[in-house]
Amino acid sequence: MTTYYTNCNLWTGTEKATTSNAWFGVAAGKITATGTGDAPLQPEDDLVDLNGQTVIPGLINAHVHLSMDPERNNLDHRSETEVAVNAIKAARQLLAAGVTTVRDCGCAFNVDIKLKQLGKQVGEPLPTIVPSGRPMSMTGGHGDFVEGVNGESNMSYLVDSPDEMRKAVRTAIKLGADNIKVMATGGVMSPNDSIDDTALTVPEMAVAVEEAHNKHRTVAAHAQGHAGIQNALDAGVDSIEHGIYIDEHQVQSMIAHHQYLVPTLNAPVAISRYGRETLPAYMTRKNDAVRDDFFDHLKMVFKTDLNVVCGTDAGTPFNRFDRGTQEELALWVDECGATTLQAMQGATIKAAQLLKVDQQRGTLQPGHAADFLVLAKDPLTDIHALMQTDKQVFQNGSRVH
Ligand SMILES: [Zn+2]
Repeated sequence: MTTYYTNCNLWTGTEKATTSNAWFGVAAGKITATGTGDAPLQPEDDLVDLNGQTVIPGLINAHVHLSMDPERNNLDHRSETEVAVNAIKAARQLLAAGVTTVRDCGCAFNVDIKLKQLGKQVGEPLPTIVPSGRPMSMTGGHGDFVEGVNGESNMSYLVDSPDEMRKAVRTAIKLGADNIKVMATGGVMSPNDSIDDTALTVPEMAVAVEEAHNKHRTVAAHAQGHAGIQNALDAGVDSIEHGIYIDEHQVQSMIAHHQYLVPTLNAPVAISRYGRETLPAYMTRKNDAVRDDFFDHLKMVFKTDLNVVCGTDAGTPFNRFDRGTQEELALWVDECGATTLQAMQGATIKAAQLLKVDQQRGTLQPGHAADFLVLAKDPLTDIHALMQTDKQVFQNGSRVH
């Protein structure tokens, strides 16, 4: 039995615009076919008339921190239970917002890996999780937080040589990481460094890339300052996360080497919108200094062919799971000159390619998972259509919100 969804504006993720008067079939959780006009209905099939609503692939957010709480901003000395409860809540919020696939870019206690492995045992639907587990940080670097009420763990693997990196990456992959997160620079959220500090060295990150690529995994580099971005690119990472001080030369090099940018604009915007009264002064001071530069650099990026992928850094201060993905894409379009197509591809097909899930997810092609959203309006016409709170969310063919 196939369920045919008819009379919709369909964007499968592979075209430049939506197709009107379209239909698609779903059976056993997968897309069976797509077309226009009348669906090839058999007597045993079901029909759902979507009355001209828009259907797009489920969104992909390539950079969140399920372990972090955007309202409480407590980073260290949390118990694994607290982290796990937060992560489940965050994952549920993402799914309700239409994010059917999410990459965690660094998670205390490997809770992202464990949630993925638990799967249906969690008892409620969660997005498909592409976990990084604990990230790789130098001692004293961005990501060096003590975790556990008795200080029994660190947020990150602390690595201070290529050999230590090799051991840590092999351990992370053994435990189930699908991506390796490396810290190439300081960051806004860490008190004792600045974003133009470099952190892990090129030889250290190159070992991470070698080990990850040997096992068909990816490496994502937290890289905000210019020199650290260059170090990460020289090491051969798959994506630059944030990339605040990226320049045109680096953009051209990334295009040539098929490297992706995941800017996470929503992180500094959430801090300046909501955090002024409550956050530590070092954080707002660092944040204000970079926000405008970040937007300027993104404007340059969106004029090029660089593959830019949607991530939000959700979990950082005031950077929420329930609305951040939509806000991120609106920032690209409203403030950085991206086209709606660049934004939509960044949250679907291109994100799926970066996460290496594009054989199943990111586009609504026959044989792919039936992860899709039903929206009142077309986000390729107006990106704010994604903000609809009562959108219908389907995962593997089942309605989950
Ligand atoms: Zn992050």
